[in-house]
Formats: sequence, structure tokens, C-alpha cells
Amino acid sequence: MSFSRVMALPAFVEIGRGLFPRLLELLEDHGLHHERIVVTSGPTFTARLGEDLYHRLQRSALTARYLQIASSTLSEVERLREALREIRATLAIAVGGGKVLDVTKYATYRENVLLVTVPTTPSNDGIASPVAVLEWEGLTHSMGTQMPTGVVLDLDILEQAPERNVRAGIGDVVANLLAVDDWRLAAEEGRDRYDAVAAMMAATGAEHLLLHDPAEPRRPAFLERLLHALVLSGIAMGLSGSSRPCSGAEHEISHALDRLFPGLALHGEQVALGTVFSAYLRNHPLAPQIRDFLRRAGLPTRLKDLNLTEEQFLEAVALAPETRPARFTYLEFAQPTPEEVHEILLRAEMV
Ligand SMILES: [Zn+2]
Repeated sequence: MSFSRVMALPAFVEIGRGLFPRLLELLEDHGLHHERIVVTSGPTFTARLGEDLYHRLQRSALTARYLQIASSTLSEVERLREALREIRATLAIAVGGGKVLDVTKYATYRENVLLVTVPTTPSNDGIASPVAVLEWEGLTHSMGTQMPTGVVLDLDILEQAPERNVRAGIGDVVANLLAVDDWRLAAEEGRDRYDAVAAMMAATGAEHLLLHDPAEPRRPAFLERLLHALVLSGIAMGLSGSSRPCSGAEHEISHALDRLFPGLALHGEQVALGTVFSAYLRNHPLAPQIRDFLRRAGLPTRLKDLNLTEEQFLEAVALAPETRPARFTYLEFAQPTPEEVHEILLRAEMV
């Protein structure tokens, strides 16, 4: 992935209660005086929030457009780019989940428009990252875009997210522990450049999370820590200029599952399963803790949790390296045989 323009840090990240109703005030406080603004949201749960914000902008006599984003496809990106051009927008505000953020990030990046995100679900590390995952020709692609200028994390909204989505966010964060390990290995093998600061940020968020009980992930104290870790993940990607600090072999396995069994589970759920395998593949010193934590978080840690057979998982492990050919991970390094994969699955109690 190459980044032609990267802002490593958002200009501001706000975490707290009652932030969305005060959003216009917050923008002013942070010096964002914009008069032509496009609001995006999803078509279902987040539409109410998107419409509400759009009406507030209109009442403030600002030129505004409101667009619902249905999918993370290039045609949605084009539709949004047209809307941005139509009113010569200088700011977009994305209110929603992963697809809304991904499409808005990419479209604003292409149109050189500033972006403020109001994530409504903590289901993955895209909430404060410069990476957008888009779909075309049946495949997902991680695209380098811009870091949002502002990220507004309203706990009143986020704690309403389905518990399953919150759990998925935990899976995506814990993966960082393996991803940074893969990154260091790739650097040692002369296959990549390592950025220690980015790696520390990605790993620290994940390590902190392991200290807390994830059984009720929407408890405010836990949710806030999860959000911290997701923001740190995003900043780590911004610093390194790629998704590398947060995506290693475990993500390759998830990408392979996407290709082989589309719609199998949420990104963070598939990543959690990949994380357990990846931890045991390299005998990571924290492997049992990582597995038990993910299990306690209610994430898939056994093949049967995702209704996968061992043959199907084997197929995914074999396909995984192809999903990100430029990325060297422990999987490419170890190249486990089917017998070795079987032995790892047994050791990890995944079968
Ligand atoms: Zn991820």
C-alpha cells in the first residue's frame, strides 16, 4: 500500500458523553469553520443521527447535503464524490459504522476535503485510521487515504452498538500483538521497514486491554479502554503509513476466509480466530492468555464457533499469503504443512 498523503494524527479526538448533540460547537472549538458540508450515514440505524445532523446544519444556514451510504463499493465512492463536488464541500462528517467511514474517507481523500468521523460502532480499528477497506470484483482492498481531521467518540451512541460488534472490535485490537510480531520478523528477514513507535502504540493498546475483563464489553470502563486501543491502532497506521502494525498473518487468514466463504462472520470475529492460530503457530509466550481472553470476550476461538471444518480452515491457511502478497508474516516464514496445521489446531484447542 502506498500513501501519497498521510496525516499521522487526527487534529482532535473527543471521547465522552453528549458529544453528538454538541457537534457543531465542537467543530467551532477546534477551528473548523466550514460552510459547505456533506453528511453521510448508513441507511438504517445511523440514518436518524445523520438526518438529525443534516437538519441542524440547515438550521444554521449552512450549505449541506446528506447522503446515505449503502455499501463500501466504488460506485458509492463516486456518488459521494459527486455530492462533494456539487456543493464544493470543504468538510464531510461521517456518522456510522465501517462502510460509511470507509467510503467517506476514500471519497474525501480523492476530493481533498477534510473529514470528521462520528463512529457509531467500535467493531474495528478503522474508526481513527487512514485506511479504507473497499470492495470491488468480489474482493476487499485496503486503501491508503487520509487520517480523519477529527474523531468524535460519543459514549451515549457507542454503548448502544450491538454487543457482537463491540466484541468484534476486541478481536481486531488483540490481533495487534501478533501483527507487530510479524512486522518485526519481516524486518529481521529484510522484507520490511520496522517503525518501533508505531509498533509500540499498536501493541500497548492491546496489552492494556488484556488486563481487563471483557465479559461485558459495553460496560463504560471497558468500552472506553477499547476505544483508546482502537484509536491508538489507527494512529499507529497513520505513523507507519500502512496497516502493517495492526495486520499480520491473522488478518491474512481473515482475508482468505472472506474470499472462500463470503459473509462468514464480522471482520473482528474472523481475525480473532486467526489470532489464536497465529499465536500458537509461533509459540507466542502469551498464546494461552490471548486465547482465553478472546474466549471470555465471546469471540470465535474454535473452528466450530464459525461452523468451519478443518479442511476449510486448512484451505484458508493455504490461501492466506496470497491475499496480501507484499506482506511477509510468520505464515510465509513457517509455511506450515497440513500436518503441522493439524498439530497447531490441537495444541490451541481449536478443534
Ligand atoms: Zn482489522
